[in-house]
Amino acid sequence: MTYEVVYLDRDGTINIDRHYLSTPDGFEFCDGALAGMKQLSAMGLDLVVITNQSGIARGYFGQKELDAIHDVMREKLKAEGVSLAGIYACPHGPDDTCACRKPLPGMIHQAEKDLGRRPGLMIGDAVRDVQAGQAAGLHTIGLFSPERATELDEPATYLATNLIDAAQWIATKNEG
Ligand SMILES: [Mg+2]
Ligand SMILES: [Zn+2]
Repeated sequence: MTYEVVYLDRDGTINIDRHYLSTPDGFEFCDGALAGMKQLSAMGLDLVVITNQSGIARGYFGQKELDAIHDVMREKLKAEGVSLAGIYACPHGPDDTCACRKPLPGMIHQAEKDLGRRPGLMIGDAVRDVQAGQAAGLHTIGLFSPERATELDEPATYLATNLIDAAQWIATKNEG
């Protein structure tokens, strides 16, 4: 298997989870996230962000604030030579019965429609990230402990400690 696309959760995976981050100044990369994304990008993989942002449905912030955060994220990544192939955000809440909120695979399906379906992986720090990837038929990397992984019906392809670990694992698969 040679991976070509990495779908990444945002909060708790790329940036430190501030629980409904609503301003760009609270955006801070998780340990290893920038280095891991740099490595993935250098390996030629497309990086696509897949994020639940129910803070919009809950009225904590609006699309404008979310866009401002994503502009800053893109700038910080660009400064390190990393560009994103796309950002998909679900603005709905748990009771909105939308098709995009993870663990549903709607945002991944939309990304595949926009960017083409290629072999990929979904990476995230929550069980529902792995579930969304599995529902889309992707391989998955969970950034969580084996204890939390027991909540999954189907095991994640790999459990990593951070995005550097994840990128190194992907590198060995893509070389092999
Ligand atoms: Mg997360
Ligand atoms: Zn949604």
